[in-house]
Amino acid sequence: MMGKLPLFLTCGLLGFFSAQLGADPVRDAGDYVAAIEKVNAAHAKKPGDAREADLAENVPRQAVVGLARLLRESPSEETNAALVECGEAALDLAIEDHFSRVRTRLLETDPDSAAKLGDAVVRERFVVRGFGALEDGFLAEFADLLDGVLDAYDAVFGFAEWSKVPGKKIRIRVHLEDQITRPPHFAPQFPYHSEIDMPVINPAGFKSPTPKGQMMFYGLCHELGHLIAMWGDRQNQEDHHAWAHYTGVVIVEHMAKSATYKDLLANRRDVRWRSLTMEREKPENAIAPSDKSKPGVMSLFIRLHDLAGPKMIGDAMNRMDAEDTGHRINHVRYYSFSDFEKALIEVCEDREQDDAIRSLFP
Ligand SMILES: [Zn+2]
Repeated sequence: MMGKLPLFLTCGLLGFFSAQLGADPVRDAGDYVAAIEKVNAAHAKKPGDAREADLAENVPRQAVVGLARLLRESPSEETNAALVECGEAALDLAIEDHFSRVRTRLLETDPDSAAKLGDAVVRERFVVRGFGALEDGFLAEFADLLDGVLDAYDAVFGFAEWSKVPGKKIRIRVHLEDQITRPPHFAPQFPYHSEIDMPVINPAGFKSPTPKGQMMFYGLCHELGHLIAMWGDRQNQEDHHAWAHYTGVVIVEHMAKSATYKDLLANRRDVRWRSLTMEREKPENAIAPSDKSKPGVMSLFIRLHDLAGPKMIGDAMNRMDAEDTGHRINHVRYYSFSDFEKALIEVCEDREQDDAIRSLFP
């Protein structure tokens, strides 16, 4: 175990070994990747209160030695491929220091492999990765926006845990495309973290809507709703896709109305087309709450929002998450409206409100 020895010091010390031991890039990369996988698997099994930033300390010293050796290896197809694998693995545990060493090395020796790995910004709550010819500063600016969106979610709903595996940072994969053919989406397939896939078309900055009217900023806020909760199961989407739409429009409107986010929203004007206020005014949402259609579920969330408030909705979600209510598919949280109703009644402190809450549910 590395103990408390800082990673940079460990890396620095260990170039020394490369001359001594027979170097084998494939073995070193394999050991490093396996070590990261082992730490992630152990954490997923028993997350406790550990945060991802602390998990890097559990990577065995020997694996870090191997990475340091690999970084000093002379370039070859084999070494470059091994470095790409290690760069990917480093980000699987959000170890920015290892990732940037690998990336810096590949930029010197093999820019094509460096491009495969892309760039990354690691912050307290997330890792943003960038692919394609994004201009300098794009990712940092995107990260500022995401920090703002998460702050807004904290202020409005107060969700306690973002990633499906507690303690892990969420991931956003930003990739530059000629045009957007698929909207941003939640990618649930990764074993240990929740990820959002985010296509962008402007290398200079994240503007929304696009010239074609695609609401990318709202899309980001919407996808975060999916990270918090899915409803029903894979076959039967109990919320008819209304939940993420609801949280998305709430956050877009909250940010647009608050001076705190004025600068962040300068190029993100989605609130003109996406807001809770507009959802309230839509004739199709003016129906009785039900679980039969998207407008029915929208009506439920809008009424609940106005009656109990989004903080109580957040408290109920936190309660269900903490009590492991519902079921998990590949760690993704799936809830039902009946569990949600129960959780709301549990967290509601005003007994007189209970009946009004119950009356909203089918
Ligand atoms: Zn969606």
